[in-house]
Amino acid sequence: ERISENSGVGSRILVFVRLRPMAKKEKEAGSRCCVRIVNRRDVYLTEFATENDYLRLKRLRGRHFTFDASFPDSTTQQEVYSTTTAELVEAVLQGRNGSVFCYGATGAGKTYTMLGTMENPGVMVLAIKDLFAKIRQRSCDGNHVVHLSYLEVYNETVRDLLSPGRPLVLREDKQGIVAAGLTQYRAYSTDEVMALLQKGNQNRTTEPTRVNETSSRSHAILQVVAEYRVKDAAMNIVNRVGKLSLIDLAGSERALATDQRTLRSLEGANINRSLLALSSCINALVEGKKHIPYRNSKLTQLLKDSLGGVCNTVMIANISPSNFSFGETQNTLHWADRAK
Ligand code: ADP
Ligand code: MG
Repeated sequence: ERISENSGVGSRILVFVRLRPMAKKEKEAGSRCCVRIVNRRDVYLTEFATENDYLRLKRLRGRHFTFDASFPDSTTQQEVYSTTTAELVEAVLQGRNGSVFCYGATGAGKTYTMLGTMENPGVMVLAIKDLFAKIRQRSCDGNHVVHLSYLEVYNETVRDLLSPGRPLVLREDKQGIVAAGLTQYRAYSTDEVMALLQKGNQNRTTEPTRVNETSSRSHAILQVVAEYRVKDAAMNIVNRVGKLSLIDLAGSERALATDQRTLRSLEGANINRSLLALSSCINALVEGKKHIPYRNSKLTQLLKDSLGGVCNTVMIANISPSNFSFGETQNTLHWADRAK
C-alpha cells in the first residue's frame, strides 16, 4: 500500500484555471475578450483585445498569473477531468480522500465544469464513470461498494439534494463529522448517475426573487465513497475506504454588490462565511500551519476529512473571457494564486 506523499508536511494544493467561451449574449452586448492563456500555464489579463504586449503585462501587478495548468476555452470536459481529477480517483481506490472545488463568480462556468450537460458531462460524472471502469479492471478477489451523497450548504443550512426535506444536523461521530440522515445512494453503474445528479441540482435552493435561476449562493457537494473489502492471507477482512468530494461552490462575487436588502445581505454574509472559512483553511494548509480552522462554517466542517492531511486537494478557478467581468476575473485569479 502506498503512503501518502503529503502526510505530515503542509499540503500542496493543485490549482487550475478554466476559461469558458464567450457567451452569445456577451458578444451581442459588445463585450471583448480580456483573457489570454499561453502555453497552457500563463494567464494574462488585458483590458483590450488588441493588447498583446505580454512582457509589459508581466511587470504589471495583477495581470499575469501562472498555475499548475490553465485551460483555454477550447478545452474539453474530458481533458479537464483527466488533468485535474483522474489521479484523485485512483487515490480513492487506494483508500485515500480527495477533494475538487470549482471556484468563481456566478456565470463563470462552475456548474458546467462540475456537472456539465447530458451531451457534455462534467467532472462529477466523468469521475464516477472512471471509478467504475477502474473497479471493473481490477481482479475480483474483493468486493467494491460505491455510495453517493449529494448535499447543499445554503445560508449555513445543510440539505440533502437526493431527498429534499428538512435541514440536516451535523453530528460528530467516530468517523468524523456526518450529516445525520443524509441519503447514501448505492450506485451500480454510471448510466443512472447523470440523471440523478441533474435532478439533485434542480433541488438546489433558488433565490426567492429569481425563481427560474439556480442559486448562486448555494454550495453543492457530491461525495463519492468507495469501499473495498477483501480477505487477506490470514483470512482477516481488510476494509479500505476512500472518499472523493466534488464541490460546486457558491458564486464568489460580493453578495452586497448585487442587492442591498437586509435579508439578502444576511445571506450574503453567510455565504461569505463559508467561502471565507474555506479560504482560511486553504491558506492555513498551504502555509503548513498546525491549526486549521475547520469549525468556522458548515462547509469546512463537512469537508474536514477531505482537506489537507492524508488527502489531495484540487482547485479549479472558473473565469469568463468578457471584459465586463474584468474585476471578478481578477479577484478569482488573485484568490486562486493565493491557494497555490
Ligand atoms: P456558474 O455555475 O459558475 O454560475 P455555469 O456553469 O452555469 O456558471 O455557466 C454559465 C453558462 O455558460 C452556462 O450556460 C454554461 O452552459 C455555459 N458554459 C460555461 N462553461 C462552458 C464551457 N466550458 N463551454 C461551453 N459552455 C460553457
Ligand atoms: Mg452554477
